[in-house]
Amino acid sequence: LNARIGQVILDNLREIPDFPEPGVLFRDITPLLANGEAFGKLIDELAEHYRGKIDAVAGLESRGFILAAPLAVKLGLGMITIRKAGKLPGPVIGVDYELEYGTARMEVRPEAIHEGQRVLIIDDVLATGGTAAAAVELVRALGAEVAGVTVLLELAGLNGRDRLPGLLVESGVTF
Ligand code: AMP
Repeated sequence: LNARIGQVILDNLREIPDFPEPGVLFRDITPLLANGEAFGKLIDELAEHYRGKIDAVAGLESRGFILAAPLAVKLGLGMITIRKAGKLPGPVIGVDYELEYGTARMEVRPEAIHEGQRVLIIDDVLATGGTAAAAVELVRALGAEVAGVTVLLELAGLNGRDRLPGLLVESGVTF
């Protein structure tokens, strides 16, 4: 994204080894959220970056919601919730995807997305890219365009970008 965004994220990040399971280094953005000045600066910067280029902001449950909502309000746009299976009352459309162990499913309300809209997908962390790729499939299935996938943190070693070919993928910090 840009150096100011990267700095505000790095200055307010907490890293927890072996959470939620052994071998995972969990990247926790809650210190950033709790710092009003930092959170405001992040949203202001994101809004300037995407102003005029998108028509809606889609947040991925659940930390993506926290970023998508203020960004959408700041830009005067609507916010779309792309949720885990079974959370949205129907009708919904869903996409299943593979996890390391088992599968997961993301769902969206078809009425929430309109044909031809430029939708920005946002989440806290891009890891394997499976969640974001499912969200891309949902947006496209409804005839909308994915304007980009934006994350605060990208774990480059997991090659999440490879699952988002041809898309604008932007991150605040890459590890
Ligand atoms: P993935 O589908 O593998 O790209 O995983 C992305 C989702 O898992 C995001 O919604 C993240 O919130 C979460 N996630 C994955 N790895 C981490 C991590 N190391 N720290 C924090 N969140 C993570």
